Amino acid sequence: MTLTLDNPSTIQCKYQKLSEAQKEWAHTELSKRLECIKQFSALLGKFREELARTLTMDMGKPIRQSRAEIDHARKRIQYFLEHSHQWLTPQIVHHEFGLEEVLSYEPLGVIGNISAWNYPYLVGVNVFVPALIAGNAVLYKPSEYATETGKKIEELILETDIPENIFSAVIGDGSAGQHLLTLPLDGYFFTGSYKTGSHIAKQVAHRLVPVGLELGGKDPLYVTDEINDLQRVAKACVEGCFYNNGQSCCAVERLYVHHEIYQPFLYAFLQETQKLKMGNPLLESTDQGPLTRAQQIDFLNDQIEDAIKKGAHILLGGTQEGCPEPFFSPTVIEHVDHSMKIMREESFGPIIGIQKVQNDAEALELMQDTDYGLTASIYCDDIPRAQNILEQLDIGNGMINCCDRVSPHLPWSGRNHSGLGSTLSYLGILAFVKPKGYQIKRNLDK
Ligand code: NDP
Repeated sequence: MTLTLDNPSTIQCKYQKLSEAQKEWAHTELSKRLECIKQFSALLGKFREELARTLTMDMGKPIRQSRAEIDHARKRIQYFLEHSHQWLTPQIVHHEFGLEEVLSYEPLGVIGNISAWNYPYLVGVNVFVPALIAGNAVLYKPSEYATETGKKIEELILETDIPENIFSAVIGDGSAGQHLLTLPLDGYFFTGSYKTGSHIAKQVAHRLVPVGLELGGKDPLYVTDEINDLQRVAKACVEGCFYNNGQSCCAVERLYVHHEIYQPFLYAFLQETQKLKMGNPLLESTDQGPLTRAQQIDFLNDQIEDAIKKGAHILLGGTQEGCPEPFFSPTVIEHVDHSMKIMREESFGPIIGIQKVQNDAEALELMQDTDYGLTASIYCDDIPRAQNILEQLDIGNGMINCCDRVSPHLPWSGRNHSGLGSTLSYLGILAFVKPKGYQIKRNLDK
């Protein structure tokens, strides 16, 4: 199939059309807009298998994980379908001397949604679904590494009753994304790396419109000495580290283990890691497919070499022998410390450093030692003990006895280099509107 790439003039033309059509969409009843999104969700369900295959072919995600992504995206859509009415309907918030004070919301207008390839449905749905429900038009730029999926999303949206020119995909690479920044959009919503996110924030700052940034992480997980099912915890940690090849914003990227259980935990962790099956991502049995971007291999190898140079030991993986590019075997490294890149830079791949800690105070200090602030997880049977640590971390989401998890009911919100603003939850509905207050005196005599 030939791919038609957008260029500055086609992007400008798409923007123009969205801008004209959005006004009518904004005045379409909310119930009608919700109905359109319900149709979109139904189409995701109907074509689930075909869409999952396309996603797997696009970026190498194992087919079971591709299906799971579509299912989770539909759950998120369901959240928006059930809760948007409550938050977007105008409310009388105060009465005073016969005067009514009303809080209402209006859509931002035409927003840009520059999206990432690792979970195109999930990170896409976080933005374009609440944006459309609120009455915005969306210029959607999928990643070049998930182009076919991006086109499918556009196709399905066009199959619903959403009018033409309310949602348009821009097909191209980073330079197409860069062109979006030159348009007078009414909001810029980006999912991707800190590097590109901070560049975008600077580029559009002068426009003084909302900017949402969902960026990367270096998320820590601490296994305390109070866990009664070590094998299950080890299995959950392995999943947190290696699901989607570690290419998740909230993947576990640093593992701290209490010295009392270090050896048995490590043994169980290695055992569980060795069970992962690497291979053709279209096969049902595969847990780990190829990396999405072959160039990531050099980046991962550099982190590994740096760690070895500074005294780390590779326990598993770490070599590409017998493993054709762009596959990368799950790599477990111990004797790491915070002088090493592997404990500081986002890896975004199937490698993990494990560090032994003496107590909670040391774990806390290490968990705090990062530029990022997306999530942190603790395994501990004593919930107040874990809660006490999480409360001291500058993060958007804390998890106890679970990890690498996103809920539509809670704000997805990174701090520091992990981003700005929130998607999901009611905050992720209100992120795509601007408030307007009305003060109404119905009777001048009162
Ligand atoms: P990038 O920042 O490289 O790219 C993200 C998007 O921006 C892509 O669509 C890309 O296009 C586009 N882009 C690239 N350069 C520019 C530019 N100069 N101007 C405008 N747009 C541009 O991210 P990665 O591909 O590396 O994605 C992985 C990152 O995303 C990780 O850091 C990960 O943690 C983060 N992420 C965060 C999530 C969160 O919820 N916090 C969720 C998912 C991922 P193209 O790809 O076509 O080059």
